[in-house]
Amino acid sequence: MQSTMQDVPLLVSRILEHGRTIHGKSRVTTWTGEAEPHRRSFAEIGDRAARLAHALHDELGIDGDQRVATLMWNNAEHVEAYFAIPSMGAVLHTLNLRLPAEQLVWIVNHATDRVVIVNGSLLPLLAPLLPHLPTIEHIVVSGPGDRALLSDTEAQVHEYEELIAGRPARYDWPELDERSAAAMCYTSGTTGDPKGVVYSHRSIYLHSMQVNMGESMGLDDEDIALVVVPQFHVNAWGLAHGTFMTGINLLMPDRFLQPGPIAEMIEKERPTYAAAVPTIWQGLLAEVTANPRDLSSLEIVTIGGAACPPSLMEAYDKLGVRLCQAWGMTETSPLGTMAHPPAGLGAEEEWPYRITQGRFPAGVEARLVGPDGDILPWDGTSAGELEVRGPWVAGAYYGGDGGEELRPEDKFSPDGWLRTGDVGVISADGYLTLTDRAKDVIKSGGEWISSVELENALMAHPDVAEAAVVAVPDEKWGERPLAAVVLKEGTGVDYPALRTFLAGTIAKWQLPERWTSISAVPKTSVGKFDKKLIRKQYADGELD
Ligand code: ADP
Repeated sequence: MQSTMQDVPLLVSRILEHGRTIHGKSRVTTWTGEAEPHRRSFAEIGDRAARLAHALHDELGIDGDQRVATLMWNNAEHVEAYFAIPSMGAVLHTLNLRLPAEQLVWIVNHATDRVVIVNGSLLPLLAPLLPHLPTIEHIVVSGPGDRALLSDTEAQVHEYEELIAGRPARYDWPELDERSAAAMCYTSGTTGDPKGVVYSHRSIYLHSMQVNMGESMGLDDEDIALVVVPQFHVNAWGLAHGTFMTGINLLMPDRFLQPGPIAEMIEKERPTYAAAVPTIWQGLLAEVTANPRDLSSLEIVTIGGAACPPSLMEAYDKLGVRLCQAWGMTETSPLGTMAHPPAGLGAEEEWPYRITQGRFPAGVEARLVGPDGDILPWDGTSAGELEVRGPWVAGAYYGGDGGEELRPEDKFSPDGWLRTGDVGVISADGYLTLTDRAKDVIKSGGEWISSVELENALMAHPDVAEAAVVAVPDEKWGERPLAAVVLKEGTGVDYPALRTFLAGTIAKWQLPERWTSISAVPKTSVGKFDKKLIRKQYADGELD
């Protein structure tokens, strides 16, 4: 029997029109580094998104599912592009501006981007790549920057403001197939080549609804969300789309991502919420410890993208800021779990839940698969690879223009689940605890050592600023842990003391015997520990 319900496609344009009209007064505030930030209402952003769509269609010839790339910071114009491009039927391709040049070139060519919208301040990054980007026909420049850098390019150069000026503030958004491509994002290649994930209108719509649920971010038009996580890092974790559903006011840091300006914008603009990877929160903690700032407006903070050391949560608890861990991937849009404890618990009972990666929302089904392919029980002890499926989880990668979709066996199971490459346990009540990435786990004498557990234990030491633990080859055991430690300034703790400290919580056979002191843990383009690089530095004899 068929249902009797209307079949209205779930489209990004519907989110846009809802935000423009119902939440027209909500605002995107962009940090400028000057006395006053820049403020633009959702109503204005809606009008300007329509103007941008007209410009892309009428002037630049975008009339189908061509890819329009953005090389931009988090700011109001980037939000406009987020809505204009998918709503008109084209595909938004957010470029990660921290990727090495050769990866960016590879990605733009693989996606066959036709247009790139770029912040002027990023022209020094884009200009040298252009001779290698033959598919780019148009460059649209927004904000201050040296246009002379583009004097040699064959692509047509446009000014964002001039291009959209005078065009109609309404666009007759097409009724698209909700399963068609709306946006794409390449994984940051932490553990291999970048892979293109293509989001549909439907997946973005459903994911945005989940982002707004109480068990996830749960924000509304009374909130101000400081979005430090870049718009090029998995759609700013869904915040930039979700905001137009519920009117969440956005505070966008633009290029001012250093701890000093972030602390200043929190004190001055008083966001109630913020989202960023752990390294940002580590940096901010050091900053406010040295130069105290008022962070009291922050009620809750989403921390994800890499494991959050419990010691970091404790440090922020003392400042009255609650860090809530989330797990996700480019392939999961990204919301996969969030660590809100069950209702009705006291602070002490909540703690064991808060230090997990969190529980799965209704749209994400999960299973753990053991080394022999068995599905493991959710008992809090059986460890296996996490596999997930759901309406905002990727089922394949983009195979290139006209190419087949890619479904590598190590990434998708024969029955279509996403193999996350993350290893962990799930408790009987559905809380996930990750012990490692499959590629980072240390296999010592047939047993697994969790690099994350060692890192968390090390970072709980008062003299340790950061610590990364990687597997290095060992003749006797196959692999053993190498601890690369960043000590806080003015402290002189030695390795035997750190080993003794670890022995309080870590089994003796797991304790590292190899140690190295480094000035900073190398980071990937999205701010995660770059363990691949540490392993390489060790292999090349660059670490003492
Ligand atoms: P990349 O795979 O290129 O690093 P992603 O940003 O998609 O790009 O990374 C997803 C991965 O990040 C996950 O598979 C997981 O290993 C890690 N991750 C994300 N959130 C967490 C978390 N809260 N705890 C531990 N690891 C996390």
